[in-house]
Amino acid sequence: MSDIAIIGGGAAGAALFGAILSRDASKTVHWVTGNAPHIGRGVAYSTSHDRHLLNVRASGMGLYLDADEDFIGYSTRRRPMSKPTDFLPRHLFGEYIESQLAKRIRNAECSGRRFAIAPTIASGIKASFNGYEIALDNGGTVTTERVVLALGALSPRPLRTVSTRALGSGAYVLDPWMLASRPIQPRRLIVIGTGLTAIDTLISAAIRWPDIELIAISRHGLLPFVHPALPIDPFPQQAELNARLLRCGGPTRAFAEIRRTFREHQHIDWRSVIDGMRPINAKLWQDFTPRQRKQFLRHARWVWESARHRLAPQSAEVIQQLRDEGRLQILAARVLDVDGEGPLDVTVRSRASQKVTTLQSDIVVQATGLDTAVAFAEHSLLSGLLKDGLATADPLQLGVQAQPDGRLINAAGEVQPGLYAIGSLLRGNLWECTAMPEIRSAADALANQLSVSRGEPAKSSALVA
Ligand SMILES: Cc1cc2nc3c(=O)[nH]c(=O)nc-3n(C[C@H](O)[C@H](O)[C@H](O)COP(=O)(O)OP(=O)(O)OC[C@H]3O[C@@H](n4cnc5c(N)ncnc54)[C@H](O)[C@@H]3O)c2cc1C
Repeated sequence: MSDIAIIGGGAAGAALFGAILSRDASKTVHWVTGNAPHIGRGVAYSTSHDRHLLNVRASGMGLYLDADEDFIGYSTRRRPMSKPTDFLPRHLFGEYIESQLAKRIRNAECSGRRFAIAPTIASGIKASFNGYEIALDNGGTVTTERVVLALGALSPRPLRTVSTRALGSGAYVLDPWMLASRPIQPRRLIVIGTGLTAIDTLISAAIRWPDIELIAISRHGLLPFVHPALPIDPFPQQAELNARLLRCGGPTRAFAEIRRTFREHQHIDWRSVIDGMRPINAKLWQDFTPRQRKQFLRHARWVWESARHRLAPQSAEVIQQLRDEGRLQILAARVLDVDGEGPLDVTVRSRASQKVTTLQSDIVVQATGLDTAVAFAEHSLLSGLLKDGLATADPLQLGVQAQPDGRLINAAGEVQPGLYAIGSLLRGNLWECTAMPEIRSAADALANQLSVSRGEPAKSSALVA
């Protein structure tokens, strides 16, 4: 029987596949990558646009903890002027992933390490004697003892306020990355959302269609905050602050403590404080009660996401220039209705005045962020796992229920032996587990865990320290 299968061909799958290849030598590792053309790049790093930038400095990006060549080394070889503090194009990181994977695969071939890559979709998983059977869209089957789901975010679902007519019109774009394939120049484009994906969408639309009018709408109209041009010093009292935050017992007090710190240390850059919380974010989230998590998602998520997942300064400059030229408007409003056959009518209620207005747009793009609501997803593999009780949905629709080390919880409320996840499906347990710094640590910890055969006692290490 073959041993480990990873499902999902994005950066998380790549990080785990490479990490396992360099460890356990006795079993076969299968990687079911889906049918995207560039294995390992996934959604974030498949873009070829030079203006789609990483939102982490080059020095913070990487694929493995024990890389053969780090991303800084690779990027200076490819672009000699680049510096570790730069926010580089995402496609460069995609090329780096491919180069790192190619090296690990060559080494594995030379050493006779057993592996198999299936560039197809896994359509279902059934529990079988001592393991699982994975059905593949290409007609094949993989039999394995352990399976890791590295499925990334799910395909976006349309907002409830979008009519069937609008969805069928072709003028409503559910997947922002499909906008590039539009042949006709729109006069006006509305983006629903003002996060990082919305920013990429606005920048590419402005470059491609120089005369276009752009509008971005979200409830608070808040854009992501901006990274400083150069790294900032850590907050000297971060350790003490983090200890206090962990004793706060909920988001309300934690936010009050953060605000107090800002007030008392006005000379420091607030961003260093937020960045310094990275090591405790998962623990803070895990300590929240279900009610507190709900409270956080409802009242604080929008500002936390903007502060935590910031924009590269160059992208912020482009956005500011578009606003200064009057080509881009940012609206703080709730979208009440999207209807029509193209152009579409977008009815919104302004946050400030409560006034309801209808805007017309040739194209409306939905960029409302990561969807991990597995219970509602049209994803045959996940639906099958939920139906068979091998996995359970997180109560707040933040992926699946799991242990901090990635082991899934089944319908009986127990750990499902041999079934794991990595990346955004674990948001319910870890909250912050979707960016590369977290993913590569998680991949390394999971590779260690999986290198111990089933039945042997594994040292349980949390995926995010
Ligand atoms: C636009 C964007 C920009 C980002 N920028 C950064 C950044 O600068 N720095 C950073 O650290 N993080 C960034 N992120 C976060 C990003 O999510 C992670 O860095 C990382 O790319 C996540 O990889 P993943 O493999 O978990 O997910 P994905 O990239 O979504 O990959 C999952 C893959 O699994 C495949 N799949 C799904 N179901 C199946 C199935 N049944 N069978 C087979 N395959 C399947 C999918 O097709 C997909 O290819 C960004 C994210 C986005 C969306």
